[in-house]
Amino acid sequence: MSFAKSLRCRECGREYPLEPSHVCEFCFGPLEVVYDYDAMHRNITRETIERGPASIWRYADFLPVDIEYAVDINAGYTPLIRAKNLGERLGLTNLWIKNDCANPTWSFKDRVVTVAATRARQFGFDTLACASTGNLANSVSAHAARAGLRAYVFIPSDLERGKIVGSSVYGATLVAVDGNYDDVNRLCSELADKYRWAFVNINMRPYYAEGSKTLGYEVAEQLGWRAPDHVVAPMASGSLYVKIWKGLQELARLWLIDSVQTKMSGAQARGCSPIVTAHEHGTTNVRPVRPQTIAKSLAIGNPADGYYALKVMEESGGYGVASDDAEIIDGMKLLAESEGIFAETAGGVVIAGLAKLAREGKIRSDELTVAYITGSGLKTQEAIEDALAIPLHIDPTMASFEHALGERARDTAQAGA
Ligand SMILES: *Cc1c(COP(=O)(O)O)cnc(C)c1O
Ligand SMILES: [Zn+2]
Repeated sequence: MSFAKSLRCRECGREYPLEPSHVCEFCFGPLEVVYDYDAMHRNITRETIERGPASIWRYADFLPVDIEYAVDINAGYTPLIRAKNLGERLGLTNLWIKNDCANPTWSFKDRVVTVAATRARQFGFDTLACASTGNLANSVSAHAARAGLRAYVFIPSDLERGKIVGSSVYGATLVAVDGNYDDVNRLCSELADKYRWAFVNINMRPYYAEGSKTLGYEVAEQLGWRAPDHVVAPMASGSLYVKIWKGLQELARLWLIDSVQTKMSGAQARGCSPIVTAHEHGTTNVRPVRPQTIAKSLAIGNPADGYYALKVMEESGGYGVASDDAEIIDGMKLLAESEGIFAETAGGVVIAGLAKLAREGKIRSDELTVAYITGSGLKTQEAIEDALAIPLHIDPTMASFEHALGERARDTAQAGA
């Protein structure tokens, strides 16, 4: 049995039963799951967690679902890697990478979808749906296949090929909408009123969003039960960023870690930075923008959790940081070349932002810093392929190889001169 008690409006505090709904009928504020923390405190210890499976389900007691309904393709419990090489390049002596590319559909979205799909099955839905910037479409399609549910996934029509193929392959009905994510989301909100489908990030959003808390829990556990000093995380709607903070706060509340002093820094692409821009202007009033960036997975111009992200940034003493497309590509290359991790454009946004914060002295060199890498670069190859060296092309002879090698050395020397 889950320790979730009810849904509560984040604005006026009114409570609602655990149902597939996401807005307060009274003030239209967003709803959030509340838990019986006293019961959790009596039942959960570090040992009960450590005995659990090597997946998100080791934190089942923190999630608003009953595990007998679990739709499980083994999301979560991804590697936390000490990034010594990258740290040396950036002047950071205690840098770690949380590599969420290592999820079943190669992005952190498997965390949120496994929770939403499980709750959808518990509610008796037979259809999963979503409005997606790409990775969510992949994950919803895969989880629906696993659960034997139908899936309708809605995406902007200009998405990367890898994200389109990575949804269709699971047998989902893919709907490419001529418009940007904010148009797709608006359409899906209308559809969610008419069809009795579980839109994971609309009517199921309170449950879905809780899955991201596990990115806070896991990092704390992997660090030996402590919170990082500094976090750099990507922001699209801002939900992931806010829930990492909530996850850390919950661990402290349940006495599983000491009090949380983590500075939460959030990274966006300059071509879609409504949250960072509001932070720079010292306001919590987020002004919607029209996205124009290669970081399509983060291209939400009207972020649902922007206001709450800004509150976390302020409360934790973190920073907002934005990078342009060239810096994003450099960030992708830097991470790949220094640590052997091929991240998508959102990872480039995080590494570019991390580098900037380090350069500006906003991250102290000895702070225990965790950078969240949330999706795999194999899905966004078109963003970076023109910025990479082309293969040496040779005949199958020693002479041809050595000739080509000589040419490459000369080109490299010229480029460096
Ligand atoms: C969806 C997504 C995010 C963050 O999304 P939020 O809406 O801010 O929760 C980050 N990285 C990748 C790769 C994503 O697909
Ligand atoms: Zn309300």
